[in-house]
Amino acid sequence: HAATVVSGTGLAQQIHKEVQSDTAKLVAQGNRRPHLSVILVGDDHATASLLGMSSSTIFRPSSVSQEEMLELIDKFNRDRSISGLLVQLPLPEHFSERAICNAVAPEKDVDGFHIVNIGKLCLDQRCMVPATAAAVWEIIRRTGIETVGKNVLVVGRSKNVGMPIAMLLHSDRNHERPGGDATVVMAHRCTPLPRLKELASLADIVIAAAGVPHLITADILKEGAAVIDVGINRMQDPVTGKLCLVGDVDFEAVKEKAGFISPVPGGVGPMAVAMVMKNTVTAAKNAPTY
Ligand code: ADP
Repeated sequence: HAATVVSGTGLAQQIHKEVQSDTAKLVAQGNRRPHLSVILVGDDHATASLLGMSSSTIFRPSSVSQEEMLELIDKFNRDRSISGLLVQLPLPEHFSERAICNAVAPEKDVDGFHIVNIGKLCLDQRCMVPATAAAVWEIIRRTGIETVGKNVLVVGRSKNVGMPIAMLLHSDRNHERPGGDATVVMAHRCTPLPRLKELASLADIVIAAAGVPHLITADILKEGAAVIDVGINRMQDPVTGKLCLVGDVDFEAVKEKAGFISPVPGGVGPMAVAMVMKNTVTAAKNAPTY
């Protein structure tokens, strides 16, 4: 029978409510209102919703120098009215993204990309967890998908997405930053397709984060598997010619075989946005009150 389609939009609304009430509580206790600052370089993107927080978006042209960006980040790091700070990636060629990520104060790093946050993530210490990985984690938790002792296949090994997802799911549930206690395997572009199929057929949970449309097809999956689609591929609809979003999973066929499936759009995407908000409230809670 058909899979339960996990509503990322619905779960994101739960998180929004929690963030909103946490924000209200913080403010009622006399704390500063949590504030998220977003730095965008080049084309503008949509800004996130507020949920009782305040936010600001700073635009810089693609020609902005790394020095100027570092100065801006430093200014924001020292600004106590700013709880969370996020620099939208990717950045133009002339930037070292690592240098930019490491310039953001770790306690304001709501993307979780500072080397200290990544190090803590890998040591199962409490940290800012990258939003997409946190989104996958929350979808699994809130949907009641069991992870302990289960086989998880993470397809994709990027440092921002695949790696942190695998880190959360394989680690110990009793550690400071609890993990999923699953047996995790990572596949990537060097994994031969027959091997990918073999691994997928063993997996209780498949997380698709490869950026390859329709990589995960129904035939390679175990009956009843939970399939979480992290892919965001912009494609032209062959019929209407319109631009549309597709994931890495062949949704229509897979939903007939899987136990759970998260759609694209309306799955991991809205949850990831919600997790940035959650990280901002966490940053505000942890901020010194002097
Ligand atoms: P993201 O940031 O969404 O993870 P990236 O493009 O940075 O996207 O990473 C894509 C990941 O997917 C890489 O780790 C790459 O090795 C993996 N990948 C790409 N193609 C395949 C494939 N055909 N099979 C398995 N993994 C793949």
